[in-house]
Amino acid sequence: MDITLSNILLVSFKNSQKKMTGSGKSPGVRRGCGLVGRRLRLQKRGDGAIVPCMQTACTKEELRALLAPVRGKQIVLVPTMGALHEGHASLLRRARALAGTEGCVVASVFLNPVQFDNAGDLATYPQTPEADLQTCRECGVDIVFMPTPEVMYCPDRSISLEETHLSTVLCGAKRPGHFAGVCLVVNKLFNLVQPTDAIFGKKDYQQLAILRRMVRDLDMPITLHGAEIVRGEDGLALSSRNVRLTPEHRAAAPVIRRSLLAAAELYASGASAEAVKAGVMTALSAVPGVVVDYVELVDAEHLHEVTDERRLALLAVAAFFGDVRLIDNIEITRNI
Ligand code: AMP
Repeated sequence: MDITLSNILLVSFKNSQKKMTGSGKSPGVRRGCGLVGRRLRLQKRGDGAIVPCMQTACTKEELRALLAPVRGKQIVLVPTMGALHEGHASLLRRARALAGTEGCVVASVFLNPVQFDNAGDLATYPQTPEADLQTCRECGVDIVFMPTPEVMYCPDRSISLEETHLSTVLCGAKRPGHFAGVCLVVNKLFNLVQPTDAIFGKKDYQQLAILRRMVRDLDMPITLHGAEIVRGEDGLALSSRNVRLTPEHRAAAPVIRRSLLAAAELYASGASAEAVKAGVMTALSAVPGVVVDYVELVDAEHLHEVTDERRLALLAVAAFFGDVRLIDNIEITRNI
């Protein structure tokens, strides 16, 4: 018999109704781990569906056990490093919409040390696990995977995964080993979750391009979806690192978006790549305490020099506001 999620729910609902009498507790996020084998609680989701309460796995075994009943169904994965904000939430909601009532949404919250090229950045990266669980629940996530580095990696791991073309430019040129770390962790998450779909934000445009290449070159049966950048009202792209900005730098940071928009207009009207990049560079460099890491104009797919101006281009920027490195980008075209 084909056990659908609805079947499981019905069975679980009956079982849990029997067991829940007298418990008096309202279903909600179950903080912590080791939920496998415990009774399944149900909740009414925003879209009206009666579903199991979001469940949390901290080990690979727990994750596999939670996923066992939904194998064969659509499984949509949203990998994150936590400190979730509205940008992450948009991905999670999109995952929920994609998976529908029958499918399963998995979010991973894992601050992956292997992708950090700077120990200080890792040490100061914000971590808000309780709030992250709440965000996941509000966005309709079914399973949150929250492993520790010790759970994820064997101490003597000796396999690395290197993309050798797209990752030689932009952030890849500035952050040695970063994308190898990203490919490794995403590959591991793909193996553990075995999703049908995964969603990544265009905020990390290069990451998305590299992961598309990984999926293509390694024949992974997973559909990747790119999600638009979510911004604050002042145009600053939401980022977990924004909370580390000084008030002055936070106030100044929307200059990134403004300069990218102005550059997009310049590019559309036929300005040279150099003139387009120089405009952004000048605007950012004028902010006290800002050091531009790069401003690059590249082909949006292969991320190298624009050779065909009829194709979509990407204007990407990275800049240090004090010790906080911010990235942003915009897809641009010529008015031909
Ligand atoms: P992170 O936790 O920074 O690794 O991000 C997890 C996912 O959320 C990545 O796919 C990011 O591209 C995406 N993301 C982060 N910030 C935003 C944003 N402002 N808008 C859309 N997606 C985002």
